[in-house]
Amino acid sequence: MEKRLEKPALQLGKYSIGVGDRFGHQARAQLRACEQALRHGVELTPVWNKSHREHSIIGSEPLGVRAAADAATKALGWDKPYFCDADHITTETVERFLAPCDFFTIDVADSIGKPATDHAVQSFVRQHSELSGRIRLEGVAQQFEITSEILVSTANKFLFAVNKASEVYRKIASNKGSDNFIAEISMDETDRAQTPAELLIILAAMADEKIPVQTIAPKFSGRFNKGVDYVGDVAQFEREIALDVAAIDFAVRHYGLPQNLKLSVHSGSDKFSIYPAIHSTLKRFDAGVHLKTAGTTWLEELIGLAEAGGEGLQLAKEIYVEAYAHRNELCAPYATVIDIHPDNLPAPQTVNGWGSTQFTSALRHIPGAVTYNNSFRQLLHVSFKIAAQMGTRYLDLLEAHQDVISKNVTENLFDRHIAPVFLGRRN
Ligand SMILES: [Zn+2]
Repeated sequence: MEKRLEKPALQLGKYSIGVGDRFGHQARAQLRACEQALRHGVELTPVWNKSHREHSIIGSEPLGVRAAADAATKALGWDKPYFCDADHITTETVERFLAPCDFFTIDVADSIGKPATDHAVQSFVRQHSELSGRIRLEGVAQQFEITSEILVSTANKFLFAVNKASEVYRKIASNKGSDNFIAEISMDETDRAQTPAELLIILAAMADEKIPVQTIAPKFSGRFNKGVDYVGDVAQFEREIALDVAAIDFAVRHYGLPQNLKLSVHSGSDKFSIYPAIHSTLKRFDAGVHLKTAGTTWLEELIGLAEAGGEGLQLAKEIYVEAYAHRNELCAPYATVIDIHPDNLPAPQTVNGWGSTQFTSALRHIPGAVTYNNSFRQLLHVSFKIAAQMGTRYLDLLEAHQDVISKNVTENLFDRHIAPVFLGRRN
């Protein structure tokens, strides 16, 4: 039980940030934000993530993410680690990510709740008597009780999923070699937040399956809508994240999971109101974190185009008009992670009359700004398919206005995300 799993050869640093780049044009601008962090004394490992769903909608390939990341790091002379993340993969979708990726987010959400065999549950309970009774985690005041009923029902709820994760992990390891990738397990796309007791039980089961997991993404309570702020009780989030970090620490000490195992926060981007809580928890526990942001970089492209005026602004408006017309189908795949108020969406003819400043100030996420429109932002966030369909027309304009776009991408990532989470700066 106390035996440490073999130390992973490839290790993720204490602080890392997952960035998305839907059209593969902003890796350099994103990397500049990490350079800026380094100048402030924080080494932040960039991880370029793109999911199967995102690739499918855009028509891109994981190889393209790798090429963009390699090119950006080479161009800027980045000699520190960086990774390409096969985001939210399963046995069914992992294949084309195997060669180009070195970070795999193994998604087990769909397997949670599928019953495990009686044999598996009984043997887990027998092996983990330490999980029965009062649990004291270091660094938190709250203690909790795991009764034998909770232990059995939790094992029954999660063992099948952990087994599934193990299957995917072995598949990747047999293809790439276990030394050549980072494994993350994600459970955030479920309908209920995991309790610290559940997290402990899941981690114990992962150690039993010998999965050298380096990051784990639980679900927290509250709404993590795409591209907009957190909706929920910030104080409760702070209690939850502290318990999760303490549970991870317990699991590392008791089950021999990798020493650098840390929390991965699948933020969906822009969770500004919980950033101070994340920062203070990292300080309090001297813990690391992987902050995964969603593809809001594409919104910075739109902001940059609109700011450029002329054809750029014209194209940004055209994308909105199309998005508005097809809003139902565009929103459908994201229904559980967006909250758009249809009445707050400006009419296409209104937007067509806007100048650069009106467009950018409605879209740019400055909390409290009266002109910021979170429904407008969410709709555009899920409408990247329209730009993808424009093909070279969109990409050529990105290239023509790269300077203004890059500036927006770097500033957004550094000022609004990296500075508050990793440097503790209050915005
Ligand atoms: Zn996620």
